[in-house]
Amino acid sequence: MPGEMAEQRRQQQQLQQQRLQQQQERQQEHEQKPQQEPQEQDQEQAAPARALAVAGGRFRALVEPSALGALTPPQGEYRQPDPPDTVPEPLDPGPGDRAPNPSTRPEIYLTVDTEDDYFTVPHMLTGEGIGEEYGAYGILDVLDQYDLQATWFVNVYEAHRHEDPTTVERLVKTLDERGHEIALHTHPSEDLEMYARPLYWFDADEQKRILGYGAELIEKWTGRAPVSFRAGGYVLNDETFEALETLGFRLDSSVFFSSKNNRITPFTVNAVRMRGRVVEVPVTYVPRINSDGEIDHRKFDVNWLTGEELDQVVDRVTEFGIPHATFMMHSFSFIDKTSIREEEPGTEKAIFRSPPLRSRFVEIYGPNREVRERFERFAASVSRDTRIEVKTLAAAADGLHRRAAEPHPDVVPVV
Ligand SMILES: [Zn+2]
Repeated sequence: MPGEMAEQRRQQQQLQQQRLQQQQERQQEHEQKPQQEPQEQDQEQAAPARALAVAGGRFRALVEPSALGALTPPQGEYRQPDPPDTVPEPLDPGPGDRAPNPSTRPEIYLTVDTEDDYFTVPHMLTGEGIGEEYGAYGILDVLDQYDLQATWFVNVYEAHRHEDPTTVERLVKTLDERGHEIALHTHPSEDLEMYARPLYWFDADEQKRILGYGAELIEKWTGRAPVSFRAGGYVLNDETFEALETLGFRLDSSVFFSSKNNRITPFTVNAVRMRGRVVEVPVTYVPRINSDGEIDHRKFDVNWLTGEELDQVVDRVTEFGIPHATFMMHSFSFIDKTSIREEEPGTEKAIFRSPPLRSRFVEIYGPNREVRERFERFAASVSRDTRIEVKTLAAAADGLHRRAAEPHPDVVPVV
């Protein structure tokens, strides 16, 4: 078996190398091509978009960072752009435009949604029964190995449901002791009377009670109240921001552009913006341009992009002076699993099958070593990359509040 795996890995590496080479060749081809003749400017030969910018309520394609000079700072009433299906019209550089010269290095925020909503044995939280290196402690070890600190959004509302009710508390204490940020994450629990339904069912006062309950648990375990928040499944509404503000939260990271669960008055795609006294730090939306020119809506997530694409996001962020990118993953990112509709039968290959929850159940098949390796490579790469800084949201909070007060253009990396 180990020999077979090594062989597989070798083949994968070879494949990756080939792809990289092809990409470099394409790039060289592109660079050697003389300035395009006007008659050549059709869709096929136009330079590829490497980022999108929000301008006047629409997305525009960016090929070169210099085009950003043509963007005026956002003003007036915010208009949310429609998700792009294909590459939008380019934003043309004006005469003499120069790329913005950011005074600080772009910041990368590593965030981990930490939860096992489905099982009372924490397979999806700590990797129990699969291997600890594939759960939260495994992620923690990789991060610590590269001296990286992450923001862990912990769903504390499941803590009492685990067979060992100290599971979540012990994890939180370990993360905290090892210098990581503990932040609040919300998933409803059917046996919690105050919070048995999705967050947007509740008014601002009720949401304040729900979020307050979670913040108190974290404070009890770590001695510090959390300052950052992410709604589970991006389920939040305008009232959630009221609750966050009255509870003293400083940051929210629940906006994800293509999520229908964001039942909010829209105010940003990827840029940081103030919402009352809370600064919004969206999960970084990453459109992927397919070979047919159509766009897939992805995010900066170890399970949503290839290793090469994760690197590309960091490249785009530095090339285009995008001030930040929010990377996300889950405590179960290294676990091979699937969610199945309740009425469907399970499969033979499952090693664990959960009871149904909200009309679905989860099957676990084992570890997903490929994703763990992808993450290890990514962690190694960002830890060495002097173009960027990796920070927790709490550590970045002051800078984020300053930056949000003077709106920058909303620029979206493309892969
Ligand atoms: Zn979640």
